[in-house]
Amino acid sequence: VTDRTLEELARAAAHSAHNYDPLPVVLESAQGVWARGIDGVDYLDLLAGYSALNFGHAHPRLVDVARAQLGRLALTSRAFQHDLFAGFCEALSSLCGKDAVLPMNTGAEAVETALKLARRWGYDVKGVPADRAEIITCAGNFHGRTIAIVGFSTDPDAHDGFGPYPPGFRTVEYGDVAAMAAAITENTVAVLIEPIQGEAGVLVPPDGYLRAVRALCDEHSILFLADEIQSGLGRTGDTFACDGEAVVPDVYILGKALGGGLVPVSAVVADRSVLGVIGPGQHGSTFGGNPLACAVATEVVRMLETGECQRRSRELGAHLHGLLRELPAEQVTQVRGRGLWAGVQLAPGQPSARVVCERLLARRILAKDAHEGTIRLAPPLVIERDEITWAVAQLADTLGR
Ligand code: PLP
Repeated sequence: VTDRTLEELARAAAHSAHNYDPLPVVLESAQGVWARGIDGVDYLDLLAGYSALNFGHAHPRLVDVARAQLGRLALTSRAFQHDLFAGFCEALSSLCGKDAVLPMNTGAEAVETALKLARRWGYDVKGVPADRAEIITCAGNFHGRTIAIVGFSTDPDAHDGFGPYPPGFRTVEYGDVAAMAAAITENTVAVLIEPIQGEAGVLVPPDGYLRAVRALCDEHSILFLADEIQSGLGRTGDTFACDGEAVVPDVYILGKALGGGLVPVSAVVADRSVLGVIGPGQHGSTFGGNPLACAVATEVVRMLETGECQRRSRELGAHLHGLLRELPAEQVTQVRGRGLWAGVQLAPGQPSARVVCERLLARRILAKDAHEGTIRLAPPLVIERDEITWAVAQLADTLGR
């Protein structure tokens, strides 16, 4: 680590909140899967902005549409319609096979939107008595950082010390259909699920789980809210992680990669029978659905429509998982995930995932620990096969020391 890097980190630490503990690197530019530090070193990015950079850094198609739009029209607020709004909503709802889109900016905002939508649907359509709606969430979840969301987080760091929290949420074990069935009451309006839990360490639920949840939702007239903010838009080798079980949720919650790594764009996508319960004045956002966001996100949808990113994720993901599975069992006990998304569970006695990530950084690789013993790998989907081979060789060598 160079003096200049240490100096920049110290300056930032002096004048910013310490709500993150970043690895000791300071980046100044990036293209594709490579990011350059102020130390002049090129690093291979295996985190991809927690999947916000599925198309890599500065994808030329996305930068072009963003540049063109910046000088044309960047913000109108939703008080006035702009000429890219209809096209964006058409394209995204068609990608999702749904009727309509409600655009927001960050992932947490989209999750909050889905929670409000589910409650309102519960009162207006299902007939739940006022203020009695219940939503089922899963242990180990990560849906963002707002008060309501951290209220049902089971991670003490995320949850503790920020109460009081809004009521109306019940937590069940992830992957346990019987537990979910037991938690359902006549006031249950929705289940909120990550089809694969990202922050928990890339946890893939048992085969058939999502299908069983879908069946429960159908049986009890409950909305299936799929948080595909990290798992969606190509990451798992399908457009949505739910596709892996051929499950169609009632509500897709999208974010991260939807903004192409250039702008924050999130959205809730559902049929009119659900989204129609929200009327003018009942929800919104100054920046949600702005022209710049719509320009970039429409191009993102166009790129996903060809299936090329999904195919790369599937094929290169098989290569990545194949190599990771060859790591010795005394170093790695489990490799989870799907597509270009892997949670590498370190064996007891190995250094912490954080220490391994620091060692990888010294070998020019940017990776991030998910939980204590898990290294999460989620490279941009534009990564090349050779780069994956090189990165896993570095990991193997690091663990072998
Ligand atoms: N939901 C999931 C599944 C996520 O992984 C994240 C972020 O990591 C969020 C929601 C929150 O998104 P944001 O950080 O944009 O608010």
